[in-house]
Amino acid sequence: MTRTGQLFIVSAPSGAGKTSLVKALLETLSDIEVSVSSTTRAPRSGEVSGIDYHFISEEGFQQVVAQDGFLEYATVFGNSYGTSKRLVDEKLAQGVDIILEIDWQGAQQVRRVMKDSCSIFILPPSKQVLEERLRGRGLDSDEVINKRMRTAVDEMVHHEEYDFLVVNDDFEVALDELAMIVKTQRLAMKRGKLTHSALINQLLN
Ligand code: GDP
Ligand code: ADP
Ligand code: 5GP
Repeated sequence: MTRTGQLFIVSAPSGAGKTSLVKALLETLSDIEVSVSSTTRAPRSGEVSGIDYHFISEEGFQQVVAQDGFLEYATVFGNSYGTSKRLVDEKLAQGVDIILEIDWQGAQQVRRVMKDSCSIFILPPSKQVLEERLRGRGLDSDEVINKRMRTAVDEMVHHEEYDFLVVNDDFEVALDELAMIVKTQRLAMKRGKLTHSALINQLLN
């Protein structure tokens, strides 16, 4: 049996820093990629289709749903978001670890079908800081920010469903903790013995 990739789920209220943390994490580790979700939300300034998201219409989204093409999907802040089943399966089969940046509803769906997934919840250091980050990002209107702040608690109440908890106060500390989680999963016996199968074979024979 060859090594397959590990699926990581990262959730957090909007503005907690998951996108920045995951981006930085990918710069420090190899053999790990982020899944590009499909969404019906309008692109923010600077966002590129195919890189940040696959920006699609509600009609296009429903077509993928009808074809059973999503590993998970959910309505978040009034827009549809989903993870492509095919893209994730292909990468995992190549032995690449995949990170899904998805909400708690999607995380629940993925856990049901991918029993070996590892999930991480990121908390902001305070509600005030969360709001400052959402405003400081300068990408959403006041109305959108207010909606996201109102929904933040609905997301955070689900933290206990996750395997790991990271508080994103100091960015470098949070990044280091995330990297430790990924590395720990890679060393766990279930995966470690596949990674080192040739060596183990040699040592035991
Ligand atoms: P951000 O959280 O500030 O980056 O805002 P976005 O508008 O980019 O995303 C809003 C929320 O949608 C995120 O916080 C994620 O929790 C969620 N989300 C993004 N992609 C997916 C997806 O593919 N599936 C699900 N279920 N949720 C997603
Ligand atoms: P999310 O993807 O969870 O919505 P982002 O990664 O877009 O969050 O982060 C929201 C904003 O907060 C961004 O402007 C980002 O640069 C900033 N940010 C993220 N983490 C930290 C941190 N530890 N300290 C200060 N600012 C941060
Ligand atoms: P940083 O550049 O500090 O790593 O990350 C923060 C930046 O991420 C934001 O200023 C913005 O350009 C980008 N960003 C914000 N929201 C999102 C999002 O929802 N998805 C993606 N992919 N990028 C985002």
